[in-house]
Amino acid sequence: MKVAEMPVESVFPRLEALLPHVQKPIQYVGGELNSTVKEWDATDVRWALMYPDAYEVGLPNQGVMILYEVLNERDGVLAERTYSVWPDLEALMREHGVPQFTVDAHRPVRAFDVFGLSFSTELGYTNMLTALDLAGIPLRAADRTLDDPIVLAGGHAAFNPEPIADFIDAAVIGDGEQAVLEMTEVIRAWKAEGRPGGRDEVLLRLAKTGGVYVPRFYDVEYLPDGRIARVVPNRSGVPWRVSKHTVMDLDEWPYPKQPLVPLAETVHERMSVEIFRGCTRGCRFCQAGMITRPVRERSITGIGEMVEAGLKATGFEEVGLLSLSSADHTEIADIAKGLADRYEDDKIGLSLPSTRVDAFNIDLANELTRNGRRSGLTFAPEGGSERIRKVINKMVSEEDLIRTVATAYGNGWRQVKLYFMCGLPTETDEDVLQIAEMAKKVIAKGREVTGQNDIRCTVSIGGFVPKPHTPFQWAPQLGVEETDARLEKLRDAIRGDRKYGRNIGFRYHDGKPGIIEGLLSRGDRRVGAVIRAVYEDGGRFDGWREHFSYDRWLRACQTALPPEGLDLAWYTTRERTAEEVLPWDHLDSGLDKDWLWEDWQDALDETEVDDCRWTPCFDCGVCPQLDLDIQIGPTGKKLLPLTVVNAAPGGDASA
Ligand code: SF4
Repeated sequence: MKVAEMPVESVFPRLEALLPHVQKPIQYVGGELNSTVKEWDATDVRWALMYPDAYEVGLPNQGVMILYEVLNERDGVLAERTYSVWPDLEALMREHGVPQFTVDAHRPVRAFDVFGLSFSTELGYTNMLTALDLAGIPLRAADRTLDDPIVLAGGHAAFNPEPIADFIDAAVIGDGEQAVLEMTEVIRAWKAEGRPGGRDEVLLRLAKTGGVYVPRFYDVEYLPDGRIARVVPNRSGVPWRVSKHTVMDLDEWPYPKQPLVPLAETVHERMSVEIFRGCTRGCRFCQAGMITRPVRERSITGIGEMVEAGLKATGFEEVGLLSLSSADHTEIADIAKGLADRYEDDKIGLSLPSTRVDAFNIDLANELTRNGRRSGLTFAPEGGSERIRKVINKMVSEEDLIRTVATAYGNGWRQVKLYFMCGLPTETDEDVLQIAEMAKKVIAKGREVTGQNDIRCTVSIGGFVPKPHTPFQWAPQLGVEETDARLEKLRDAIRGDRKYGRNIGFRYHDGKPGIIEGLLSRGDRRVGAVIRAVYEDGGRFDGWREHFSYDRWLRACQTALPPEGLDLAWYTTRERTAEEVLPWDHLDSGLDKDWLWEDWQDALDETEVDDCRWTPCFDCGVCPQLDLDIQIGPTGKKLLPLTVVNAAPGGDASA
């Protein structure tokens, strides 16, 4: 039995009247090149996809762009995008009763079957609450009715969705491409049957697939001291642990095929091709590296086809070759040279947004910049001293760095940027002060190689936040005052240096946003009350310095946590023990908890582990647990064919 649905009208006429009164109205009008508007009535499962940040950050997001296209390619499925509206429009929408809308056809978000949010950072949680409220969807999942969409969280932050467990109906961890299609089929079947059993039934069907986490089907029991005793399913057929999704053959999923071209200015004005997923370097602080294992490379042929199709579809003049450590692709030299040759006449620039010092070589850098600007080189040693780099397993020696930098200066570069973290486990002031020494050596080497004085080195430092599913998930986070004091000492050491100080740029952030990110990253369900209190106190766009208010978060912690016998420090600066049940233990990233603990102990002993791509498997658990294997080249394939036949719209992505 098919359920009759209410007609859904565009809110644009009402929105349009408000746009002359807000900043950057163009971001709300939609109609971007390669965007899709499908007929509502011709589809039976409809997704509203949100990157919970402003358009300028959200539009280039690859995750949303990929799912948007994967879903819209299917017959009977519709996907539209929505972004966070700025506070000026939010106020007007509330005043005039305009609900949260999609930018594609300006349909109200509440009319969709699924409202899927992709979280790359936990600081987007308050923006989710704003969007839910503007949409007219009850904030608490328990209060929703059959007329409300399924609110679904994805993205890296969803690997611990417990702090937002009260607000979401479901979460999916891992790669989304296949997961959204599987979910679509479950929802379609339930709707076609006349929605039997209401929301509870469809959520149960999704949970029983084993790959969708539905928080309401799990009870959390606590110990008297506040730690978790256990997490138990409260329905039969629901798995004890929910598995992550892993797409194994990236060549079968060449998305986005038709990248969106933004209307308003955005953070990236280029097209991106993901050249591999996963990373097994084993940097212990890096959640992305741990949760995206194993490594899966896209073939050189597949990359060539995506670049060709994407450039044709967009007219962009720059291509970013994305991954967690792009120079690690086994065929990166051929890829860079091949693409630089092919697009030499068109002056298409190539960039590798993330590059490791030891995988970098100047031939590669020269190929990449052949058709474009030779701007600065950026490296991320992450830790200032050799000792701390052993703790974090970032095996970059100072010698490697200086040697690479010398070659770079010798080849015409004049600017080097270095990224570091402050507050790493076991770190002392001395480790951080070594950052100044490294920067001085870089400049000294640059002066020596070039014979010139105008050599610059910029040092950029972020606060370290321990993340779930990493060996540092048990580590105490460094407090705000200690972080700030350490960074001040470093700043003084740099500024006070007469010979080099003026050539060293110093960018750092204070420790406050990091501690709140720490609370949200390793929090449990009780942190939901804090997020809600912050939202109700006006918290929006917490990832933006100018909007983030530490005092607002502190106030919320001081009211919401003491009734539970907890406080901010309990969640952040407290070290966890081996036997503690962690809030995310029932979400299976494939990593073996015992292996993570051993790796944490190795960190404390300053013992490094090698990359399993080039050395034997070190038993992190991912491959046997998920029945997968690492997948790397060389493939022997070539950067051909030159002519690409675009997939027909509506075609099967996996064909
Ligand atoms: S199981 Fe072994 S081969 Fe697979 S990612 Fe872990 S360490 Fe590498």
